[in-house]
Amino acid sequence: MKTQITELTKKETRKLSEGLVDFNPIKCYNCGNRKGIKQRFFLLNASASEENHEKIKKALIKKFGLTYYGFDNEKDKVITTAKCPECDGEKMEWEY
Ligand SMILES: [Zn+2]
Repeated sequence: MKTQITELTKKETRKLSEGLVDFNPIKCYNCGNRKGIKQRFFLLNASASEENHEKIKKALIKKFGLTYYGFDNEKDKVITTAKCPECDGEKMEWEY
């Protein structure tokens, strides 16, 4: 099965996965920036489990140019990503 990824609004994400909306990037690991970090949410057509990780990663980078994502174990079809406006870094310190 081909991995499909669709971008969601924060409002749509709240309906699907409330836990993920409260999971926010607070600091860029690369440069330490805390301002203007853009968080995005995506819906998958499959579970964001370990076995699908490579497929998701490939689809995410191809379609959106993103590499790292976080997910909610209970509503595991929704994933979240973040990007630093200062250095383009995607590795963040996340907080609930
Ligand atoms: Zn940064």
